Order: sequence, then C-alpha cells, then structure tokens
Amino acid sequence: AVPVAIVAGMSRAAGRGVLVKGGGALETLGRIDTLVVDKTGTLTHGIATVTRIVASKGWDEAEILRLAASLDQLSQHAIARALVAEAHRRDLVLVMPQEGREVAGEGVEGTIDGRAMLVGGRQHVASALAPDELAALDAAVPAGALIVALVVEGRLAGLILMQDGLRDGVGATLARMRALGVGRIVLATGDRRDVALAVTGDLGLDAVAADLVPQDKVALVGREKAGGSVMMVGDGVNDAPALVAADLGVAMGVEGAAASAEAADIILLRDGLDGLADAMAIARRSRRIAL
Ligand code: ADP
Ligand code: MG
Repeated sequence: AVPVAIVAGMSRAAGRGVLVKGGGALETLGRIDTLVVDKTGTLTHGIATVTRIVASKGWDEAEILRLAASLDQLSQHAIARALVAEAHRRDLVLVMPQEGREVAGEGVEGTIDGRAMLVGGRQHVASALAPDELAALDAAVPAGALIVALVVEGRLAGLILMQDGLRDGVGATLARMRALGVGRIVLATGDRRDVALAVTGDLGLDAVAADLVPQDKVALVGREKAGGSVMMVGDGVNDAPALVAADLGVAMGVEGAAASAEAADIILLRDGLDGLADAMAIARRSRRIAL
C-alpha cells in the first residue's frame, strides 16, 4: 500500500497544479540528482513574437507568414501556434495544406497549391536547400536570433525572426531546486546553440546541449542517468520519448501536447516550473515521514 504520507503529499502537490501519477513518482521526485530541461515552451514562454520577416527576392512578408502559418496549422509546437496566432492578428487567410506532416520538434513539410514547401528550424530545412541557399540563410540570421525558415520548392522564400523570453522567476526557481538537492541542471534544446546561450546564459546551467532531435534528447537523458536520478521536463511532442527515458518525466501544460502528457509521470497543469519546485519540497518531506 502507498504510505499515507505519500498520498497526502500527492494531494498537496495537486493543490499546486502538479498532477503526480502515483506514489512511486512522488518518491522519485524527492530524490532527483539531475534536471534535464527543455527550452522552448518550458524555460521560455513559448509564445514567441515575430520581430521581423526577411523576404528573399520575389517574396513579400505577408505571403511568407501566410504560407508558414498555413503549414504550421499541422503542428502543436509552441512556435507553430505563435505563428498561426500572428497570421490571424494580421488578418491573413490561411489555407490547409493538401498534404503535409509534422516532423516533431523540427517543423512541417507539405504541399500548398501544388508547391512542395517546408517550414521549420535550420536543421529541418537544411537538407532541402542547395549549399549556396543555405549559406544565404546563415548569413541572414542575426546571432542568437530564433528563426523559422520557409522553403518553397527547394528555395529559401524567407526567414521569420522571433523572440521568446524566459518565464518570470525561472532563475529563482532553478536555485530553489538546487537547494532541494538537484546537483546538476542540463538544457536540452532542439534550437541552435547560439540561441540557447543568448536566452539561458545567465541561469548558471551546468551544460547546454543544442540542435537536438527527439532521439538525441533520449540519448542525453541516458548518459545523464549514469550520474544519478534524472528528471526530464518538457512541453512538446518532441520531448515525449525523453520523458519516458528519464527516471521521472514531467510534462508542462496539457493543451496541445497530449502525447507528452501521456508519456509523463508528472503533469504540470499551470505554466512555469514554480509548482514543480513546490512539489519537490513536498516530496522530500513526504519521503522523510513515510520512510
Ligand atoms: P526546444 O527543444 O527548446 O523546445 P524545439 O526543438 O521544440 O525547441 O524547437 C527548436 C526550433 O525548431 C525552434 O526554434 C524552431 O525554429 C523549430 N521548430 C520546431 N518545430 C517547428 C514548427 N512546427 N514550426 C516552425 N518551427 C519549428
Ligand atoms: Mg519545447
């Protein structure tokens, strides 16, 4: 049977918006050594705003945003939802791609008006571009800028520059987790390294792993497990495999990313990591009482 103190702890955690799926998960939460954390949508708001659109020759900004957002209707990614919202704000009329699919954590590929196109981060579009087009893309990206690229029939149509800030109080929350025994905090992001460093440089993270596809996040979690008990926190479908691989998987937010909520041991119903730090403190106390 689950000790009464653990059940009480689970109910107290629920009061903080932290859904713990079982006594075992609460116990593990009380003895985490390493936190592996996703960036976009987890440490950051994930509600990126469009700061600028860089159009290639023959393209205009509105058309780039319209096509990018049209493709991104097929994605639940935080960036995708932000692009669709921005398109609506600008009264652009989106179309449904005739065919298309999301590559989790990278972007979307599909066909609109008979033209094959891709929207996503650098990795996602790189292989679809000729070397000189890729060089043009890299030259156009300001250091540290979050970008979404639109590629139409093998050519770079444009870049959407976005900005996505840290959630309020993230630094203090991570410090609380350290005080509760988390000895190592590692960032695992699908974004570029320069973007990751620009956003999280002041957080004092122990390591930053960038340019990761979902399976890379799994491998990272596996390596970190050699050093102790690993908790992985993420918000997206692209984080789901890593949530399963960790000793404790934590999914942020339930809307949109049902796959990661399903894969997780703990679900954060409120945005931000504050509730999780509260639940860690509760878990440690419950363990002491239950043991
Ligand atoms: P993180 O791992 O930090 O949450 P992601 O791997 O989810 O970041 O996303 C990294 C980058 O991939 C984003 O900055 C964006 O450029 C791109 N990206 C991923 N999915 C999409 C999408 N559906 N539409 C547009 N861009 C995307
Ligand atoms: Mg994310």
